[in-house]
Amino acid sequence: MNTIPTQLFIGTPEILEEKTEFFLQKQFCKEKIKNSSCYCNQCRKIKNRQHESILFISPEKNYSVKDVEIIFEKINLSLDKDQKFFFILEKAQNLNIATANKLLKILEEPPNGYFFILQTNNKNSILPTIISRSHIINFKGQKEINTNHPITSFFYKQNLLSPLDFDKELKALTLSDNQSISLLNEMIHYYSLQIISFYKKNNFGLDIEYNKKVLEFLKNQLKMSPRSGSSKLFWKNIYIKFPKKDLFS
Ligand SMILES: [Zn+2]
Repeated sequence: MNTIPTQLFIGTPEILEEKTEFFLQKQFCKEKIKNSSCYCNQCRKIKNRQHESILFISPEKNYSVKDVEIIFEKINLSLDKDQKFFFILEKAQNLNIATANKLLKILEEPPNGYFFILQTNNKNSILPTIISRSHIINFKGQKEINTNHPITSFFYKQNLLSPLDFDKELKALTLSDNQSISLLNEMIHYYSLQIISFYKKNNFGLDIEYNKKVLEFLKNQLKMSPRSGSSKLFWKNIYIKFPKKDLFS
């Protein structure tokens, strides 16, 4: 099967996980699979993220040069003729200019047998230099969550100690009650997806507990959704009470 060396997958975290898994299964599974429900040895290793020819890179926040160094170490080893190796770069929107520049050359022309899958939930936040080197596959079907929204990004980015900045954004953006409720629902959806993805990765640490706490908090807020015209107060309240990750242990 001919594979394009660098692909950019766009979708929600859940869809990206599913599509990437299936794509990798098609690369390594010896059966002629039509869906992801194969559990042969190869497929099982892929689902468990233990496949020796796949490396996931998923830094907590921004990619550092150190995060991508492993790619260069790995790529120095040449592969056998029919061997394939895949790098999966999660949240490629967090590649900054320095790390991206380091990668551009190998994204454009990786050594034989090496492939890249870059994942993102938001194509607009991917550097143009990366976009121009990637084959883009947009998995539609689900509404994209905009984690850069002027209001909700405060929560997604844990920017919880800047009430004045938050207030400023609230003033700049007149949210209707309906918009507020739909934003809150979007946040609930986001944190649910986070929890699902932690479960899938068998990551049962504090992250999952934190996300559960946020989810519970947001659902409670939804019950008290804004009385007409009190959206600003509603959001200020959420901002003040929103669970803080660094205090959570
Ligand atoms: Zn299989």
